[in-house]
Amino acid sequence: MKVEIIKENCIGCGQCEATCSEVFKIGDDGIATVVTENIKKELEEDVNDAADACPTSAINVENA
Ligand code: SF4
Repeated sequence: MKVEIIKENCIGCGQCEATCSEVFKIGDDGIATVVTENIKKELEEDVNDAADACPTSAINVENA
């Protein structure tokens, strides 16, 4: 699984960090960042939930 934030779309609402703080953090710029490249299997469902819940569809998930 690969995850990236489409920064132009992110409004910094914090929803993704609330859903899966192991992967998403709001950075100093107020925009979400992905904090690990190595997404563990057990976190994939949470990452997908976070992507689905993002109000601006700013989380791009590629399932390998
Ligand atoms: S849920 Fe979407 S808009 Fe909100 S902080 Fe995360 S990436 Fe940004």
